[in-house]
Amino acid sequence: MSRSQVVVVGGGLAGLAAGLEAADSGARVILLERRPRLGGATSSFRRGELEVDNGQHVFLRCCTAYRTFLRRLGVEDRTVLQERLDVPVVAAGGGAGRLRRSRLPAPLHLAGALAGYRLLPPLDRARAVRAALALRRVRPDDPAADAVSFGSWLTGRGQRPVAVERLWELLTVATLNARASEASLALAATVVRRGLLTEPGAADIGWSAVPLSRLHAEPAAAELRRLGAQIRCGAVVEAVRPAAAGFTVETRSGPVPADAVVLAVPNDAVGGLLPDGALADPQAPARLGTAAILNVHVVYDRPVTALPFLAAVDSPVQWVFDRTGSSGLRRGQYLAMSISAADADVAQPVAALRERYLPALSRLLPAAASAQVVDSFVTREPAATFRQSPGAGALRPAARTAVPRLALAGAWTRTDWPATMEGAVRSGRRAAQVVLADLRRPAPAGAGR
Ligand SMILES: Cc1cc2nc3c(=O)[nH]c(=O)nc-3n(C[C@H](O)[C@H](O)[C@H](O)COP(=O)(O)OP(=O)(O)OC[C@H]3O[C@@H](n4cnc5c(N)ncnc54)[C@H](O)[C@@H]3O)c2cc1C
Repeated sequence: MSRSQVVVVGGGLAGLAAGLEAADSGARVILLERRPRLGGATSSFRRGELEVDNGQHVFLRCCTAYRTFLRRLGVEDRTVLQERLDVPVVAAGGGAGRLRRSRLPAPLHLAGALAGYRLLPPLDRARAVRAALALRRVRPDDPAADAVSFGSWLTGRGQRPVAVERLWELLTVATLNARASEASLALAATVVRRGLLTEPGAADIGWSAVPLSRLHAEPAAAELRRLGAQIRCGAVVEAVRPAAAGFTVETRSGPVPADAVVLAVPNDAVGGLLPDGALADPQAPARLGTAAILNVHVVYDRPVTALPFLAAVDSPVQWVFDRTGSSGLRRGQYLAMSISAADADVAQPVAALRERYLPALSRLLPAAASAQVVDSFVTREPAATFRQSPGAGALRPAARTAVPRLALAGAWTRTDWPATMEGAVRSGRRAAQVVLADLRRPAPAGAGR
């Protein structure tokens, strides 16, 4: 067992978690990543004096597998985790609200915040409480909940557009990368139940205090190497073929032998790599589709807000994060606007995006209107996540495939989580556990070695 060679394809969080799990169990790990660097959907690059992330990432206190992964890498102290959920909400036309939990047990911990949420008329606040309680009865694993949209469910529970836009979508657009009308009820119920209706601290928000590459890719690579793993970046995998002894992983630069394989590539890339018979419907992952996230970054010559982050309503801006400290900026303030469900905007020219988002930010933060913009730029992720729409649940395969010792990982696989870092880490660990268990069993006649 200790000499088994496990090849992990894909160096995102799922692949890194799978590689660590396998290496920790004594396997020889080879990690193959197509790009020149690890980290996948969580990466960083340099722009002048700034270290920039491809997009703002946050996690919640309830992301236990992700936080365990950070602790395993010894980097949890490079993150900030709120002591108590506290979200400042700013409306573009003036007005502000605050969603802050109390110390009461769930779900009462949010009752005060909702009762005092001035961005909603009092009638809608009361209706929102009733809808939240009804959401507790939606079972995320119910196929009927996977078949309908969160938006239509909300409408059926008397939620007017003002409540959808100013409350519900604050919670779900960023987490599901979809507007309520496009999001699966099952996944929305997962988010709301897990984050807001169970443990009082579950939805406390955390974020990285350093560039993402220093939180994930670099420490994971160092730890994998320490355990004897080989990491090959720039290795494009083209197929996984069963061979007399295990598998041959075909890469553009030659074959790599493997006793077991974890495929941790995105859902739109996996179909072409799978050996025959691995999935009953090998095109199902691609049919999940993908959805975009856009970040518009702006550096001002002076501080324009004291808030570490804020959520916006009545604005094309959704969430704004202060990136000054984590980017290494020494003077002024660097803000990143994170725009989810951004399919309509993601291919727009930079000039058009600046014209849309910079004035919108000034309407939220009046100090920005009189500050000078030193730099502004855009990061685009057209396939940031799988499309978390009705019907998605039925298309997400489990880690185990029909081919022994070949498992799937990725935030898009059936993790019981939306497309998150938590889902990615869970999926990677699970896939590694599946192949490690297979390796401990005698090989079935005719399969693998
Ligand atoms: C801008 C943005 C913001 C986000 N915000 C959040 C957030 O706030 N909170 C949160 O929890 N999640 C967020 N997410 C989602 C989260 O980043 C992802 O769900 C997670 O990182 C996915 O990890 P993964 O390993 O499943 O996939 P990926 O990170 O996509 O990794 C797959 C890897 O496989 C490699 N690969 C593909 N094909 C091949 C091949 N043929 N050969 C070799 N390698 C290959 C790819 O290059 C890639 O590195 C965000 C994502 C984006 C893009």
